[in-house]
Amino acid sequence: MIQFIDLKAQYARIQDKVEEATLRTLRSGQFIMGPEVNDLEARLSAYVGTKHTISCASGTDALVMSLMAKGVGPGDAVFTVPFTFMASAEAIATVGATPIFVDVDPLTFNIDVAALTRAVEALAQGDDADHPLPRLPDGALGQLRPRGIIAVDLFGLPADYEAINALAAKHDLFVIEDAAQSFGGRRDNARAGALAEIGCTSFFPAKPLGCYGDGGAIFTDDDGLAELLRSIRVHGQGSDKYENVRLGITGRLDAIQASILKVKLDIFDDELDQRQRVAGTYTREIEAAGLDLITPAIPDRQLSAWAQYTVKAKDAEARAACQANLADKGIPTMIYYPKPLHLQGAFAPLGYRSGDFPVSEQLGDQVFSLPMHPYLPDEQIVEIVAAMKG
Ligand SMILES: *Cc1c(COP(=O)(O)O)cnc(C)c1O
Repeated sequence: MIQFIDLKAQYARIQDKVEEATLRTLRSGQFIMGPEVNDLEARLSAYVGTKHTISCASGTDALVMSLMAKGVGPGDAVFTVPFTFMASAEAIATVGATPIFVDVDPLTFNIDVAALTRAVEALAQGDDADHPLPRLPDGALGQLRPRGIIAVDLFGLPADYEAINALAAKHDLFVIEDAAQSFGGRRDNARAGALAEIGCTSFFPAKPLGCYGDGGAIFTDDDGLAELLRSIRVHGQGSDKYENVRLGITGRLDAIQASILKVKLDIFDDELDQRQRVAGTYTREIEAAGLDLITPAIPDRQLSAWAQYTVKAKDAEARAACQANLADKGIPTMIYYPKPLHLQGAFAPLGYRSGDFPVSEQLGDQVFSLPMHPYLPDEQIVEIVAAMKG
């Protein structure tokens, strides 16, 4: 039976070490912060290549805490994409700010920097002729202060941070990298998570580096931001435990999860290599089979962490036929993401409409993701590709 993501195969490989680490933490009696968390943070900083790692309770908390550290709130606008997981834009709204959506590139699925440039100018001028803006009650749009950008590394592929960071610098915007899906990915020698002022990742079990529950981390080189984030993680704590100098949250990573992540980090590079193998085999086999599907485009000098292997069919009917052929053979597939965020009910108050972001909308009709994990043997990939033909 082919699994979409095979966490049991991974567990079989590391079972002794995970159980030993869990027991060690249980016996230590230290469940909140402490040596396991400190040790993991030091190892993550070394891996990602940032001065600081602030571990936290989830990828969503990583985004919310980062926005809080940047002082983002009501009246602020933050640019992000509609073709992503809910949390990327939800975090913006959670702190009371307004998401300004920007369409994605049809090949990389990441933010379209030309569209981002148009969006920044459209908001500055309060004119939506060249870029759709939220349809807010009279005057509200003109009051918004542009503050920053959350770029997403979709399916594991880092976005174009050279261009994004340059645009942000020109307009005095901050950049947050949503690296929830791209931990381990690279642009040249720089790791995902280290490609902008702040990087946020998730350790949800199905992500490239997952724990056995919820978890996340924030990466930065900025000493001041790191200190703020550590305070926000514990209710805005000051130098003393019962001194609260700002508002914060309960945003800590559990010590048990930290001890498990340390074991998983030991095998992570090998798993990343295996993910490259799986993606390479898929692309070769799909192209050799002459299937009418567009395989993932990985630009030069970049490495995807392959959170997902996502292909694009000609249209919704062709996709449904392909998925049905696979389902007949018991092979699972998923659609990430069928409904872009600007059309979700949660964002209805922003007044976006169908047609505002045509690339994201079209991708929602065309894409589907195939089983992807480091323990998927080449023979099964050949079987999956054969099944797609029907
Ligand atoms: C998973 C994910 C998140 C949120 O992570 P959680 O740990 O589930 O809160 C944020 N952004 C993207 C792009 C994600 O895929």
